[in-house]
Amino acid sequence: MQSKNQKVIAVDIGGTSVKFAIVTQAGEVEIMGTEKTANFKNAEDIGPYLKNKLQELKISISEFAGIGIGAPNGNKLNGSIEFAPNLPWKGLIPLASYFSNYFNLKTILDNDANAAALGEKHYGKAGDKNDFIFITLGTGLGSGIVINGNMVYGHDGLAGEIGHLILIPEGRMCGCGRKGCVETYCSATGLVKTYVEKKKLTQNLNIDSEYVFQKAVEGEKEAIESFNFTGNLLGLTLANCVAFSSPKTIFLFGGLTRSGDFLMKPTLKSFNENVLKVYQNKTEILLSTLPKNNAAFLGAASLIWNDTINS
Ligand SMILES: [Zn+2]
Repeated sequence: MQSKNQKVIAVDIGGTSVKFAIVTQAGEVEIMGTEKTANFKNAEDIGPYLKNKLQELKISISEFAGIGIGAPNGNKLNGSIEFAPNLPWKGLIPLASYFSNYFNLKTILDNDANAAALGEKHYGKAGDKNDFIFITLGTGLGSGIVINGNMVYGHDGLAGEIGHLILIPEGRMCGCGRKGCVETYCSATGLVKTYVEKKKLTQNLNIDSEYVFQKAVEGEKEAIESFNFTGNLLGLTLANCVAFSSPKTIFLFGGLTRSGDFLMKPTLKSFNENVLKVYQNKTEILLSTLPKNNAAFLGAASLIWNDTINS
């Protein structure tokens, strides 16, 4: 029997699905279920769904130390999902306070990249590091920044959006409504856009980053150039980030990192060329060690562990 403090419920809210798992402090993940996000008319409906799930599995909520929720546009300071463009629920949704009242259990909500950064601290390679940046390279670019041992939230809880630094003025249109943001270039979506441009294709219906990777493996010039272009801009961005918070390590995570050297070589080259002299050879860039399938759960669980340590 595990004591109450050794496991939490982790909820991973995404644009496609909402996933539930039980996570132990040792990092064991037991998946409880997955439901389409669109099936929850309101975000609050996730509460009764989870309650039913626990009843089905004959698990008592009192066994848990808390509920950790990772969500796009999650704000830890007010426990709300704020105007998430990729979720069906609009406006400001105070989900953490709803959950803590509904289950009478500590609930912490944060954005998925911040949660993953804490996951790297509790379950990955960042355990002894007080200054690091965690970057997710997926559909977009998410980031969690830890300075002096603390996650950076800013005055409103929304700090650390490296993906929305403007990298190319008047560049590609971004989902945020502005142009030239980092994530329109340095993400799986950005890589595909670059490839489509280089191939002069009129549409990209069947092309994803995995396809571009396969083409690069086959030696196709445009595919390799697309990785070089992406890595060049990513390295430049990371060099700028070092000037901001001087991290010991930058962790890269997400689908795009599976491209290995095609991405990493140009990224490291550009990083070393662009980083300010006083920081040279001080910051390492590593691939995250979090397991791909469970990273979101480990991150959401870490929200509770982190809070337990700090309180
Ligand atoms: Zn943007």
